[in-house]
Amino acid sequence: MQYKRILLKLSGEALMGEKQYGIDPKRIAEYAEEIKEVVEKGIQVAIVIGGGNIFRGLAGAATGMDRVQGDHMGMLATVINALALQSALENVDVQTRVQSAIKINEVAEPFIRRRAMRHLEKGRVVIFGGGTGNPYFTTDSAAVLRAIEVEADVILKGTRVDGIYTSDPEKDVNATKFDTISFADVLLKGLKVMDTTAFTLSQENELPIVVFDMNTRGNLLKIVDGQNIGTVVNV
Ligand code: UDP
Repeated sequence: MQYKRILLKLSGEALMGEKQYGIDPKRIAEYAEEIKEVVEKGIQVAIVIGGGNIFRGLAGAATGMDRVQGDHMGMLATVINALALQSALENVDVQTRVQSAIKINEVAEPFIRRRAMRHLEKGRVVIFGGGTGNPYFTTDSAAVLRAIEVEADVILKGTRVDGIYTSDPEKDVNATKFDTISFADVLLKGLKVMDTTAFTLSQENELPIVVFDMNTRGNLLKIVDGQNIGTVVNV
């Protein structure tokens, strides 16, 4: 296996599956199976999950809501998703812990770095909810931050597309995929991988990012096994 400890970033929207809102039980069960395969290979798995399937602070602000209030709602949405993913993983007998950046002690542990690392060493999947705990950030930033903190080897960004393209492959038939690309080239070419804050944090800390299609069965294991089926962003 190429990686020993991974940080998997899943967007909230990915959990919607075919639905327009919320959580698709079939999709989350499929993700749990994919994650279980990787855990069974002895890979240590940390996960950051988004909340866009439930609420985004920017969407609230667009309707006149205070941005910070909206971001708090968005962060709570990520906790809901984290709990749902924990349930799905437990249904397939994978041991997990949820750690939240917002204190919500009755339902999740607070984020404690050393404790998170201990869970990982013991083979438990650690799901980080609540984003960074701060408004005006995204869960991509939370993913990079947590990956660096727990010393993950790589951040795996599971998306609907199978990598980074020269232009949007859903709009441009001539778009071609990069197998690997440097952080500098992503910026130079103006490509969109993560928001700028998250991307820069990853670059400064030389944390590689792999963008891949999470919706094809077996892909997560292939990535962890070192098969380049997505795009690797590296220094
Ligand atoms: N959010 C936040 N701080 C964070 C992470 C998330 O305020 O550190 C809020 C923000 O409102 C965001 C929402 O939570 O819109 C959901 O997260 P995100 O949009 O990153 O989810 P995704 O797009 O991955 O589903």
